[in-house]
Amino acid sequence: MKHLLERAGKVITPALHHYYPIEIVRGDGIYVESANGRKYMDFSSGIAVLNIGHGHPEVKNAIQGQIERFMHTGGVYYNETAVRAAERLLPVTPQGLDMLFFGNSGTESVEAALKLARFVSGRQGIVSFTGAFHGRTLGAVSITTSSAKYRNRYHPLLPSVYHVPYPYCFRCPFNCKPELCDLACLDFIKGTLRRQIYPDEVAAFIIEPVLGEGGYHPAPLRFLQGLRKLCDEHGILLIFDEVQSGIGRTGRWFAADHYGVTPDILTVAKGIASGLPLSAVIASAKIMKKWAPGAHGTTFGGNPVSCAAAIATLDVIEKESLLPQVQELSAEIVTSLKKLATDFPHIGDVRGLGYMIGIEFVTETGASNRKACDRVLQFCLEKGLILIPCGLERNIIRFIPPLITKSEDIRKGIEIFAEGVEKAA
Ligand code: PLP
Repeated sequence: MKHLLERAGKVITPALHHYYPIEIVRGDGIYVESANGRKYMDFSSGIAVLNIGHGHPEVKNAIQGQIERFMHTGGVYYNETAVRAAERLLPVTPQGLDMLFFGNSGTESVEAALKLARFVSGRQGIVSFTGAFHGRTLGAVSITTSSAKYRNRYHPLLPSVYHVPYPYCFRCPFNCKPELCDLACLDFIKGTLRRQIYPDEVAAFIIEPVLGEGGYHPAPLRFLQGLRKLCDEHGILLIFDEVQSGIGRTGRWFAADHYGVTPDILTVAKGIASGLPLSAVIASAKIMKKWAPGAHGTTFGGNPVSCAAAIATLDVIEKESLLPQVQELSAEIVTSLKKLATDFPHIGDVRGLGYMIGIEFVTETGASNRKACDRVLQFCLEKGLILIPCGLERNIIRFIPPLITKSEDIRKGIEIFAEGVEKAA
């Protein structure tokens, strides 16, 4: 591994971050094997990408079949595989979202969403939420505030962007307790629309219904319902960034399904094609048809090999009944982790939907406890379990096993994690 780190250090920019110095030589289901012969359970899912695990045989078959036919079309000729992928994906997206544009990465789908919102509304203002992570291209980074490091030295960023507090109830920005919450966060937004920008200049609100990189924290139902209502009152488009929470990660196809709140525009990437680059921005045909020909485009987006992988991925999720399985096991996971939290007060909070669970570590005074979080992560790694952190203070563990993870492996993972928590105490 030392040798590979040295080689990488010479040719790959240090800007690119890796969580662990592990060289993988093989990925199979929920496991990865390292060059030094160790086998790890991968509960990072390649950061919520490998929802059906590493190298699912049906995905491999679909990729091989497509490679034999053709691998690229660009915008020159029509690509039947991309049309089929859209026909496969749209029926599982929230109702009314029935037309899409394929891109290659999460950040590209966010860029497309911002452009679409501005184009069809004729307005400039974009409102996003503090702690959000939407990507690294200049538009996406302008609405990203999970850490200043993503924005540092890139200013000036996109103008007409406004940031309002995310409803992060565990550390409520307005110091409310969930049981006494009167949605001060929504009132704050209403104030912003009086103090900083009138609603008729706002093109869109963009929000992760489950905050990802910023802390694995679901937004409360009443807040998203209120935000939807506010958008409807003022003709503002509501964008859900489900790059991380989409494609079954939360035990439903999309986090939006848990809330019964439908956005106007939805972004999807990560889990869609089991590791091949693909993303989509999705909206109603009514909105999409206002996007004039040539107003947006791509060379690689909707690549036929990625699209073949996406069709197979969605088929597997359905055929293997992964969504009900995740819903059932997720309740068990949360119960076990909450029990652990009562025994070990340095776990301040356990929350999440499906297999998108955040475990927040705190000190005795309730402050962020990165040290404890680091110790648990390190212990798990030594025991062969890969987990990754998130949050500004890196004090939250993302518990994101592949959706295919069976109960005995989930239990094994929790056992290792619990031992780590005990050791870190
Ligand atoms: N949006 C969300 C919610 C994400 O979690 C991410 C990546 O973590 C992105 C956008 C950017 O995706 P990508 O890294 O594929 O550009």
